[in-house]
Amino acid sequence: MKITILIPAFNEEKTINLILERILNQTKDWDKEIIAINDGSIDKTLDRLQKFSKEVIILNLPKNQGKGVALKKGLEKATGDIIIIQDADLEYDPKDYPKLLQPILKGETKIVYGSRNLSPRVGGEKKYYWGSLFLTKIVNFLFRTKLNDINTGYKVFETKTLKELGIQTRRFEVCEELTIKALRRNLKIVEVPISYYPRTFKEGKKIRVIDGLKAILAIFYFLRGN
Ligand code: UDP
Ligand code: MG
Repeated sequence: MKITILIPAFNEEKTINLILERILNQTKDWDKEIIAINDGSIDKTLDRLQKFSKEVIILNLPKNQGKGVALKKGLEKATGDIIIIQDADLEYDPKDYPKLLQPILKGETKIVYGSRNLSPRVGGEKKYYWGSLFLTKIVNFLFRTKLNDINTGYKVFETKTLKELGIQTRRFEVCEELTIKALRRNLKIVEVPISYYPRTFKEGKKIRVIDGLKAILAIFYFLRGN
């Protein structure tokens, strides 16, 4: 089994070194490829990435286009059997990889989400928590599912499945797109508890209220087809 780790990164100069070190450490003897997509950063993210050019495949988008576009570009280059989406900040910890991979390796499912709500959350701004819970509840209502965190950064897919679903959205609404597309195809999404170390808007988080609105639109858009 070869694992592909996809890292979208926009202005993450403060954390990119550390997250790459953690990933490399966690995956030492794995058959793997790490693909980092620099999404038009205007800080030193690209410079810092280039120091890892032996271990990491670097894709560079000259202009900022959003997490959805970055993931799509990475997906086009992915050759592993399983894809782990890894954010470039330090909110998610690669120590959770074995837990995230297990349900796919055991053949139970093709999609795993790392849920931030299955263990108590420490810190973080309430508005992100409530916003994401609200979006999750809409999806649960529409599909009679019992998901508890569709906006998590930790999403793991069998590569073939993710390529079949495809990515059309540009920014954070990629979470809703992939979730709705999977549920419409009756694909099971297994959630496992993960650790979560939330950062604030001031610390570099990029999600805003407008992204919540786009997320709602995406739910209803993908409900109708695609
Ligand atoms: N990101 C990106 N392009 C953007 C915005 C964000 O590639 O236009 C990346 C960002 O660098 C991070 C991930 O997407 O690795 C998630 O972004 P963020 O941490 O701001 O949002 P969260 O999902 O944690 O709320
Ligand atoms: Mg984040």
